[in-house]
Amino acid sequence: MIPFLDLKAINAQYREELITACTRVIDSGWYIAGNALTQFEQEFADYCGTKHAIGVANGLDALVLTLRAWKELGKLKDGDEVIVPANTYIASILAISANDLVPVLVEPELATYNLCPVKTEAAITPKTRAILPVHLYGALADMPAIMDIAERHNLLVLEDAAQAHGAVFDGKKAGNWGHASGFSFYPGKNLGALGDAGAVTTNDDELAETLFALRNYGSHEKYKNLFQGVNSRLDEIQAAMLSVKLKHLDTEIAQRRKVAEAYLKGINNPAVTLPLTLNSSPLTRENHVWHVFVIRCEQREALQQHLLEQGVQTLIHYPIPPHQQQAYPEWNEHSFPMSEQIHQQVLSLPMGPTLSMEDVQKVISAVNGFS
Ligand SMILES: *Cc1c(COP(=O)(O)O)cnc(C)c1O
Repeated sequence: MIPFLDLKAINAQYREELITACTRVIDSGWYIAGNALTQFEQEFADYCGTKHAIGVANGLDALVLTLRAWKELGKLKDGDEVIVPANTYIASILAISANDLVPVLVEPELATYNLCPVKTEAAITPKTRAILPVHLYGALADMPAIMDIAERHNLLVLEDAAQAHGAVFDGKKAGNWGHASGFSFYPGKNLGALGDAGAVTTNDDELAETLFALRNYGSHEKYKNLFQGVNSRLDEIQAAMLSVKLKHLDTEIAQRRKVAEAYLKGINNPAVTLPLTLNSSPLTRENHVWHVFVIRCEQREALQQHLLEQGVQTLIHYPIPPHQQQAYPEWNEHSFPMSEQIHQQVLSLPMGPTLSMEDVQKVISAVNGFS
């Protein structure tokens, strides 16, 4: 079976480095908020080109705590509206509702799966205070257009960059476009820890200070509490694992691009829609880091079954749109046709830096053999 993602093979490449880094932490006797975290935060900020990176426990917390920080700083208040793509992973939306803010779902563009700037601007009301674009599947959202809208309407922008570490357009990386960005280092993400981890990046000193406190009981200084904070820390062992893996991220992105190029060139089944076409905009073509390679097919279930029989494991990102989830009953009767179509038709092919070209060819043949 060709696995969808071979995490074991990915981490096996760095086995010795990871063990050395882990051993260093074990022997240091210091396991929370120490040098390994500070070092990784510096390295990740440098990588993204931002002034700050603040490590937190996971990607959801990165988003939740950033919105929370903006509330503490008086930039957001209960009931403010935050625009978010209707087809995102549920975590982007959870972060908004967890802060008593109102998620306003906006349909994506079918060609990119990312937030549509025209529909975004049309969704702005007097209560809109922020936009939360998601770089879904590893492709940067149309950030030049979104930042332009945000400036004209005086809105905050929080990027959900959980799937797009290293995506870059016009020399600017994911995580350095908005006023702040949330990253996840969940093991299966392009930059993955060996457990849970996340980070916020920002160029805003005040926001960074607030986040450093919020993640640590609201405390800047031991036993002094500025805020009613939480415990959301990125521990030393995961920080050390991430410093090792960050060094290899660009190589891994290049390997993912090779797989994607082979799929784009090789798949020619007319029943299948590819994620990019030759006339896709440069923004989408050049920056994609291929967290997942998503195709569309009207007979998605039959295609998935066919691929399984051919020894190809696939996944669906995602099977149920957020507005149809039980968690948000108030949206269940709403209609988001584009998002619904996406959720009914998408299928993610095997993707990863260790996938062999031989296996890629097998996947291509299996997809092309479907009728
Ligand atoms: C993974 C992911 C998150 C949440 O990250 P966790 O570390 O799993 O909490 C948020 N948004 C998107 C788009 C994601 O893919």
